[in-house]
Amino acid sequence: MKSINKSTILNVIRLQGPLSRAEIAKVTHLTPPTVTNIVSELLREGWVVECELGESTGGRKPILLNINHKAFNVVGVYAGVKTIRVLSADLAGNTGEERLLSVPARPSGKIYADLLIEAVGSVADRIREKGIPLLGIGVGMHGLVDPREGVSRFAPNLPFSDLPLRSILEEKFSVSVEVENDVRARAVGESWFGHGRGADPFICVHVGTGVGAGMMYEGRLLYGPTFTAGELGHTVIDPAGPACGCGNRGCLEAFVSGPATLERVRRRLAAGEASLLRTRMGVDGKLTGPDLTRAAAEGDRLAVEELAETGRCLGIALANLINLLNPRKIILSGGMIAAGDFVLNPLRRTVEERALSTPAKEVSIVVSELGDRAGVIGAFTLVLQKLFEPQQE
Ligand SMILES: [Zn+2]
Repeated sequence: MKSINKSTILNVIRLQGPLSRAEIAKVTHLTPPTVTNIVSELLREGWVVECELGESTGGRKPILLNINHKAFNVVGVYAGVKTIRVLSADLAGNTGEERLLSVPARPSGKIYADLLIEAVGSVADRIREKGIPLLGIGVGMHGLVDPREGVSRFAPNLPFSDLPLRSILEEKFSVSVEVENDVRARAVGESWFGHGRGADPFICVHVGTGVGAGMMYEGRLLYGPTFTAGELGHTVIDPAGPACGCGNRGCLEAFVSGPATLERVRRRLAAGEASLLRTRMGVDGKLTGPDLTRAAAEGDRLAVEELAETGRCLGIALANLINLLNPRKIILSGGMIAAGDFVLNPLRRTVEERALSTPAKEVSIVVSELGDRAGVIGAFTLVLQKLFEPQQE
């Protein structure tokens, strides 16, 4: 999208359409001739369609314009440690083709990039078969990401660094590529399609294998000069706490991530405590988050206690966030949040006890409704945001 005026008009039609040309001029404060010119261009290029007649204000009934949602597709990529998920969508976020690939243990940068190309390629092929132009690709990558350069700087649990995702994908698919940290991408997705709509400021907190936050203020993501704002997982909640993967001690992640929670359970089992989980372990001694939730639902005390411990520790971190940033909403996602009230009740109690009452009364703590696809929805929303809201940069 070349001109800001073009994007502005498109965005107004997206948010408030169907609209007449006169209404667009009124809302955007652009002159009627400018609106007429740009709308003609948008019609010619297929971005908008004339859809129906509006109410007459005396003269001829005006023709209303709407976004031509189905005319273009965007593609989102969730680039995780264990899986790569690719999903296409139209301009309204209606999802289409999907591809899910497993990532082998410790892949090289080349193998990882080839998997991305394979997954995106199969979705792009199916879009092309339908004759729909692809506008761009958005990638949500876990770890430290430089969105300006489009590079994955460092991905914990993946053995490569400085992977130039944008240039790899742009070269292969000849469309523009946005690259963002996965939790920040989730925040963008929530702001368009989830709990973040109309809730400004808000913070997405993801609690899975890792722990991170995406913070949205006045419609903009907070980055900081090194693009590392939101590393909530490595804020210290107990200086004497367990060692963390980052080299520090007592980080939030070392208490509430899936692996950290399961490690506490394993230690108590090894010490001989009674639990249903003893019989649920695989032959390899493996336990999963869902095993824990199931045992808790059956009344297993150990499982209930350790999920509650995760909830309490997370509550402390959220209380700190609430005091520091005064958000309207905190949107939770990830494997540990899927444990539901076993984590959420102690979490909410802790926030009540620990956060200052004024900001605590204002904030609502909710669970993302975008489900398993929140990451990849966020990824394709990066492209939509670039098209409709380029001023957000
Ligand atoms: Zn850490």
